[in-house]
Amino acid sequence: MDCPFPKQHLSQLHRDDAFFMSLAYNQAVDAFRAGEVPVGAVAVREGEVIGAAHNAVVETGDPTAHAEMLALTQATRVLGDYRLNAVTLFVTKEPCPMCAGATIMARVGRVVYGVGDPKMGGMGGALDIPAVATLNHHPEVTAGIGEEEARRILQAFFSQRRGQDRREASRPAES
Ligand SMILES: [Zn+2]
Repeated sequence: MDCPFPKQHLSQLHRDDAFFMSLAYNQAVDAFRAGEVPVGAVAVREGEVIGAAHNAVVETGDPTAHAEMLALTQATRVLGDYRLNAVTLFVTKEPCPMCAGATIMARVGRVVYGVGDPKMGGMGGALDIPAVATLNHHPEVTAGIGEEEARRILQAFFSQRRGQDRREASRPAES
């Protein structure tokens, strides 16, 4: 699919939340181009990217192939450890309950997300999984970094896809 937005190229001099979120955003642009729901994620430890992925549900035919899951798996491989306390996960959209759960299983130290998801969000949008008192790990959560761009690319994707669906529906049936 044609993504109407270019990738971002922020200065590497300031490797702050906005910088790492721009890398996650660029993953979302790749997802859009591949016809996947445009959500991207990067896993960072001590200023170094050790996982980067976008949604790949369509490509893999796997409903668990969310950007966060793939980036966390990459990070565990790089570190040779399934405990990711020193890792910050940047993701363009609020993690769903599955991915929020995965950040807890992996003991991810911090999660930074862009746009909230009131329908499916697992970090305060629909459910607030990190706030469950009985859990033995509670990632620090920062919301709203790169929120506008993350919302815009999702909206553009779904409106383009709706347009495609309409064109297909209006095509005369083949005989
Ligand atoms: Zn998810």
